[in-house]
Amino acid sequence: MMTINASARTIAQVIFGLSIVLSSTAHTQTSASAPANSVDQERALRAFAALHPIDVHVHVFKTDPDFQKMLERLHVKLLNILVMDDTLSYRKQLQPQIDDARMLVRSSHGHIALCTTFDPYNFESPSFTADAIKQIDRDFARGALAVKIWKNIGMEIKNSSGQYIMADDPKFEPIYKDIATHGKTLMTHQAEPDVAWGPPDASDPSWSYYQENPQWYVANQPGFPSKQKILDARDHVLADNPQLRMVGVHLGSMERDLDNIARHLDKYPNFAIDTAARMEYLMLMPAEKVRAFLIKYQDRVLYGTDLDLPPDAKFPDALKDWRSTYARDWKFLATGETLTVDGKQVHGLNLPRPVLQKILRSNAIRWIPGL
Ligand SMILES: [Zn+2]
Repeated sequence: MMTINASARTIAQVIFGLSIVLSSTAHTQTSASAPANSVDQERALRAFAALHPIDVHVHVFKTDPDFQKMLERLHVKLLNILVMDDTLSYRKQLQPQIDDARMLVRSSHGHIALCTTFDPYNFESPSFTADAIKQIDRDFARGALAVKIWKNIGMEIKNSSGQYIMADDPKFEPIYKDIATHGKTLMTHQAEPDVAWGPPDASDPSWSYYQENPQWYVANQPGFPSKQKILDARDHVLADNPQLRMVGVHLGSMERDLDNIARHLDKYPNFAIDTAARMEYLMLMPAEKVRAFLIKYQDRVLYGTDLDLPPDAKFPDALKDWRSTYARDWKFLATGETLTVDGKQVHGLNLPRPVLQKILRSNAIRWIPGL
């Protein structure tokens, strides 16, 4: 055994050394190259497709032959996540969303799976917990693989005494137990990027979101919970439910602090994160730090985008964003090319192939069985 381990380590060291050489070569070769063009994008998408990637975080409300063709050509599988949002007409009602999403799953020929949710706006109903369990159990029986809780828990919905309800409220506990008992996964979007609590910052990748959605910009709102309080409640759920697999979406809302994410992953073996809508934060951090983080935690990071197709999406134009996002993310994760992100030069991480296979595919299957 000693010999095998030692030689495996030597091989690993050689490969690691080689990848550094290759990565620095790639940097010099492409640093002066032209900006991304369509040939370039096609090449990236072909390489992406070869891994049969899984995108664990999308919001799709409609389909179209062009969309289906794109999924098939990219060999991509999507986890379509439902959210209850009382500010959007098409997200206000739960059952119509579930019905539509199940039809979408059926029409996708295996390319789309469902992450359901429950209605947190019914929190004060005496049968809230029992109703939620009954509904998600029905969705599990019909193929749902996971359950999402959203930021309206912690940041919007108040109880009858006027306090914001938190993820660790005792009313939610039996729901978490039920999800764990069924071997399903809880996807948590808790809190928001730091900038939602901070001074306006046009350089933050999420800033434009708060200009368009000012209701979630909570800086200086008297009596509003701190981000820490909301994430602490999420962490209590992790601690109290060691049998429950939880994926903290959007880098677990710790988008500017890889050390904090690492501490959480070390402390809670039942916790993983997705990259949805936060890849730009990774791109703007020092590349060597991000690369080392993703290699160290290669079993705990799931690829997600937050790409969407709202009911008013127009085909085929709506698909441009999907293609360019997948191509951009592939170049960042898998190549040593130089990308321009928000006017800044970003070096691709050139991650080792086995790490890419985990982040882009096999972690999703392990953390969200059935995908
Ligand atoms: Zn989302």
